[in-house]
Amino acid sequence: MSYSVLVADKVTRSGLYPLTDDPAFEVLSVDDSHSEEFEGVLANAEALIVRSATTVSRELISRAPKLSAVGRAGVGVDNIDIPAATEQGVAVFNAPGGNTIAAAELTMGLILSVARKIAAADASVRAGRWDRAAFKGVELRGKMLGLIGAGRIGGEVARLSRAFGMGVIAYDPYLTEERALDLGVPLVSLDEVLDNGDFISVHVPLTDETRGICGPNELKRVKSTAFVVNASRGGVVDEEALASALHSGDIAGAALDVYENEPLPEDSPLRGAPNLVLTPHLGASTGEAQVSVATEVARKIRDWLLERDHSDALNGAEL
Ligand code: NAD
Repeated sequence: MSYSVLVADKVTRSGLYPLTDDPAFEVLSVDDSHSEEFEGVLANAEALIVRSATTVSRELISRAPKLSAVGRAGVGVDNIDIPAATEQGVAVFNAPGGNTIAAAELTMGLILSVARKIAAADASVRAGRWDRAAFKGVELRGKMLGLIGAGRIGGEVARLSRAFGMGVIAYDPYLTEERALDLGVPLVSLDEVLDNGDFISVHVPLTDETRGICGPNELKRVKSTAFVVNASRGGVVDEEALASALHSGDIAGAALDVYENEPLPEDSPLRGAPNLVLTPHLGASTGEAQVSVATEVARKIRDWLLERDHSDALNGAEL
């Protein structure tokens, strides 16, 4: 007897080898979660793996009587009804580590792009101009990176920034002294990060506490020569306040990968703001990251189905 695992959405199949290479599992991929085929496989599935396209609602879970695990190949689990899963004894797993390198490298790309005006210079050359004087930038060496949040991605950004000769400080009230020592990053107050950062990069989850953590008052504190970067979650940097700080020259520039509303609304004040680099939520968009999140979640599901190891389940404590 083998366990039936239904893979919905575009999960990178090669990354699922902990399940596909093991005869204990039958892994079936069905992209369209509204199809009859999906319903048929779901009715017998012990595990379901999704990205963000399939909504794992209470109602979907009720159509899967044998289901015992749901895995999200990625971080965000907004598309999974975790209380409903818990009530049915279904363990929910995600893959928070697989995106770390991709998101940290994108952050460095955003920092470099805004410091050297790369995106604007590219647009200018394409438009037929050769305006070298307009694109004088600043160097990273000797500058201070102020991190808000120094977890997996913030920690990797700290490591990469040091290779550029930057100093690093961080505000993260939940980071242990031990981890901070490991990273070699002094933990300071939010105000110290805002006052001293030449580049301020935000790497926190979106919570009631972090919503607007970079709002109008915080942006007023920031040096007028500083750059603000957010590749974490929309809403942690106040978009209206940022647009207005860019227009008034209260900060030198900014780069964003994530937005309060995605896709970015046509009338967003960000579209007209100067010295701003915008990317469409590309933090996890590398081939390597997509393989890596698939492998991470496949391993957790294998361990759960074979050994009932729910230590990594998001609802493990309640199962
Ligand atoms: P993580 O959990 O490893 O780190 C988050 C850090 O934020 C933790 O150290 C935590 O202590 C800290 N933190 C929590 N509340 C805080 C607060 N109020 N003030 C300061 N620090 C606080 O998470 P991670 O893997 O590093 O991811 C960071 C963010 O990046 C998450 O929001 C994640 O969703 C996002 N992300 C975005 C992309 C993308 O495509 N742009 C890709 C991957 C992850």
